Amino acid sequence: MQNKSIAQMAADLRLRTYSSVELTRHYLERIARLDPALNSFITVAAESALATAERADQTLRSGEAGPLTGIPIAHKDIFCTQGLKTSCGSRMLDGFVAPYDATIVERLAAAGAVVLGKTNMDEFAMGSSNETSWYGPVRNPWDAARVPGGSSGGSAAAVAARLCAAATASDTGGSIRQPAALCGVTGIKPTYGRCSRWGMIAFASSLDQAGVMARSAADAAFILDEMAGFDERDSTSADVPVPDYVDALDDDLHGLRIGLPKEYFGAGLDARIGDAVMAAIKEYEALGAEIVEISLPNSPLSVPVYYVVAPAECSSNLARFDGVRYGHRCDNPKDLQDLYERSRAEGFGPEVQRRIMIGTYVLSAGYYDAYYLKAQKIRQLIADDFKRAFEQVDVIMGPTSPTTAFQLGSKLDDPVSMYLNDIYTIATNLAGLPGMSIPVEPVDGLPVGLQIIGNYFQEARLLNVAHRYQHATHWHQAAPAGFE
Ligand code: GLN
Repeated sequence: MQNKSIAQMAADLRLRTYSSVELTRHYLERIARLDPALNSFITVAAESALATAERADQTLRSGEAGPLTGIPIAHKDIFCTQGLKTSCGSRMLDGFVAPYDATIVERLAAAGAVVLGKTNMDEFAMGSSNETSWYGPVRNPWDAARVPGGSSGGSAAAVAARLCAAATASDTGGSIRQPAALCGVTGIKPTYGRCSRWGMIAFASSLDQAGVMARSAADAAFILDEMAGFDERDSTSADVPVPDYVDALDDDLHGLRIGLPKEYFGAGLDARIGDAVMAAIKEYEALGAEIVEISLPNSPLSVPVYYVVAPAECSSNLARFDGVRYGHRCDNPKDLQDLYERSRAEGFGPEVQRRIMIGTYVLSAGYYDAYYLKAQKIRQLIADDFKRAFEQVDVIMGPTSPTTAFQLGSKLDDPVSMYLNDIYTIATNLAGLPGMSIPVEPVDGLPVGLQIIGNYFQEARLLNVAHRYQHATHWHQAAPAGFE
């Protein structure tokens, strides 16, 4: 059952080949048996999942089911869920139960999806390996000694291990695409503003975007169809019509112009990943696409710019966790200052503290102009590079990540080498563009991701481009040993 596409599952549910309660029990059994080795879930919501599945079965019997009615999914623990813990991977929110659902949680619930639980993540979505989580690291289902990527490592590992049909995730600098690449699943980060962030815990508000992890572009299209769209409760939400993503999947690719940025294939890229990505691009040529060499000259500056902008915004967003209103509070505070200091020192882990300190530094008087303002200017130049590129091409392709999944612990003492994992993904967030990662031919048995970047609000095109490749190849169907 767990290897079927969402469309197949929906058809089976309608034909009563099995019920949503049976499908949900099947996933819950897999989670109970297989997840102890992975740690991809922070919370498993067996009881509420089965209750939702029962209601879904009633809807299915009444003949009013939609494409997601009764389909079991998981939410990244960054999305607020009413009545279910929302920790954001942090000790700070270990006891936090949100009084409301995030908009995308509400929309997927209205579509009839069953929520199996909440997935593990780097603390406050800061990380590329899922090792900064208060709940311990997630292991990569392809090799338990390796990381799943981050920050949405729990969602990626759970989808790869077939512990849910799909999962929500978020991406501030690569957190959907990089773990999707390292776990061999399909991930899409939509255009900034495409999916509501109301109820998604803020990290860096000018970069954060909600999206999806699934086993295929077609599955992702079913989920995104329900998630995307304007939300008046989110002031950055885009009031732009949402096309039907499933409808566009099969569009022909003849004449598609694919840009290959020369900066994405240079030093720092594992040569075997470069070869796997080029083999996928050859496949696109066979499907009728044209290849155009392009340049994104400012892209080498994206990591330094991001590590000014993202910490600056996080230092402001995380100021709300003060031990007073909600979240962790230290024992026996002497006075207010002591309450703030100890609650935050105990509640936040080292990476979050490092980012808050960098952020307050770059925003402080005297350094603001030198760092923050300068970073904002370079950010504009990075966006302009893409603008010029999209005058020549329809999509941009390259590797998602410079390496395959690395060993747990291997980059923990070296933040800069950890940060460089997102060298190919961050520019997309700085520009607000949509990006995807899909699995291509593995290297040494480990998954490799092809990144596909589109112009603003071109999610339908991205999913179509990804789907045509997945229709012609089988890499996305491979399951890690032990999780088939
Ligand atoms: N790895 C990047 C970071 O640590 C991106 C994280 C994200 O996209 N949430 O900030």
